[in-house]
Amino acid sequence: MFDRLKRTFSDAVKNIGEKELDENDIDKIFTDLQISLLESDVAQEVVDDLAKTMKKELTGQTIAKGDKAQNFIKKKLEEYLLQMFEKAGTIDLVTNINTKSKKEPYTIVFLGINGTGKTTTIAKIANMLKKHGFSLVIAAADTHRPGAIEQISQHASKLSIKVVAQRYGADPAAVGRDAILYAKSNRIDVVLIDTAGRMQTSKNLMDEMGKIIRVVNPDFKIFIGDSLAGNDTINQAGDFYLYTKFDGAILTKSDADAKGGAAISIVYATSKPILYLGVGQEHDDLTPFDPKSFISSILGDNIVE
Ligand code: GDP
Repeated sequence: MFDRLKRTFSDAVKNIGEKELDENDIDKIFTDLQISLLESDVAQEVVDDLAKTMKKELTGQTIAKGDKAQNFIKKKLEEYLLQMFEKAGTIDLVTNINTKSKKEPYTIVFLGINGTGKTTTIAKIANMLKKHGFSLVIAAADTHRPGAIEQISQHASKLSIKVVAQRYGADPAAVGRDAILYAKSNRIDVVLIDTAGRMQTSKNLMDEMGKIIRVVNPDFKIFIGDSLAGNDTINQAGDFYLYTKFDGAILTKSDADAKGGAAISIVYATSKPILYLGVGQEHDDLTPFDPKSFISSILGDNIVE
């Protein structure tokens, strides 16, 4: 995971000797770094901001004799990224669910474009929550994509979880509402709502998401992004955030992602945390996203104090 970004950071700093940093050094580091970051799916606006911040921090700084320039710069990068992730905060979904009054089901809406891994991720979250002892129902509210209802039902049946569905073409908000009513009358703890990911225009899709959210009034909205889809994922996150103000994101296919930049770009663009990474196709392949271990996985953890 994240090999490319890791290489970027180590390439950028490896040629700096143990000496005083001058403007030329800083320019050299950032020219290389900016190109490699862009190639690693880090969005232009993040790269620009990083370069501006780091230049301000580094200009005029002297690296003491014997100190390692490499570590000095790594630390600055680490601080920058950590601050960005800290600004987004962290959310523990299980704690959130436990905090809610047991009289009402906790409702989560999943948002994202088809093919990103939304259905599989809903099943992974269902599996994880089931292991925490919660009872669940899934609303098959993608009533547009042929096969969507069967696909979510297959996952649910493997996990022995009830699916509430209507026919294709039905109003997705009504399916969500039905599932909540079912949960209330059967004392189910959590409702997971699948949604559509493709419509004629992005505006139609966003209008539909807006309607579901108004009708269902969920406790939590999760955006699902494909870490392999580069700038598309970043643009999708921006669009969905604009219309739905989602609370957090899950990045799928991290097991196949050698770049790692999508996590940085999405958090920068939305200031919302990444909750989990999808790391495979099985229901157990979901791992909590930890900003500190993400940062050390891309910067290398051999920073000398
Ligand atoms: P949806 O159209 O967004 O509902 O996407 P699906 O859940 O059908 O997933 C699309 C494809 O991506 C399927 O082949 C999944 O098995 C695969 N997939 C989903 N999540 C992951 C992941 O974290 N890692 C890998 N390697 N594949 C994944």
